[in-house]
Amino acid sequence: MNIGDGKVVLIHYTLRDEQGAVLGSSDGGDPIAYLHGNGGIVPGLADALTGKVAGDRIDVVVAPEKGYGSHDGRLVQVIPRARFPGAAVLEPGQQFQADGPQGGRTLTVTCVEKDLVTVDANHPLAGKTLCFSVEVAEVRNATREELTHGHVHGPGGHKH
Ligand code: ZN
Repeated sequence: MNIGDGKVVLIHYTLRDEQGAVLGSSDGGDPIAYLHGNGGIVPGLADALTGKVAGDRIDVVVAPEKGYGSHDGRLVQVIPRARFPGAAVLEPGQQFQADGPQGGRTLTVTCVEKDLVTVDANHPLAGKTLCFSVEVAEVRNATREELTHGHVHGPGGHKH
């Protein structure tokens, strides 16, 4: 069965940056599941997987425009230190979740001065070229319920 819209796809993946550092992997765990044609994975990877079958292995380099987008300077904010809990230890690289209009997003501390903290609300992988090594573990038809919900149920998917 070929990967296409309306298929549930399970993949094992390793994601590296251009320098070869591992940014994420399903190694040693369960494969991740997504509903093809419905977002869930970055567009560049979805494009590369279209038409593939279980057992296929691909290596794909995804430019930022087909990945997590370019880095948006407007999402960088300087916030007074006093806005953070007094006990919070703040240092560059630290990440925390904040609620936003589109749900939770990850903020990354990029600079800490005496009274000011710079935080970046871009996706941590925005602006990065993504190097994926992927093995297709399984391809199946989505159920009617999965298509209605727009996401995968069962192993690797939503539990509800
Ligand atoms: Zn659901």
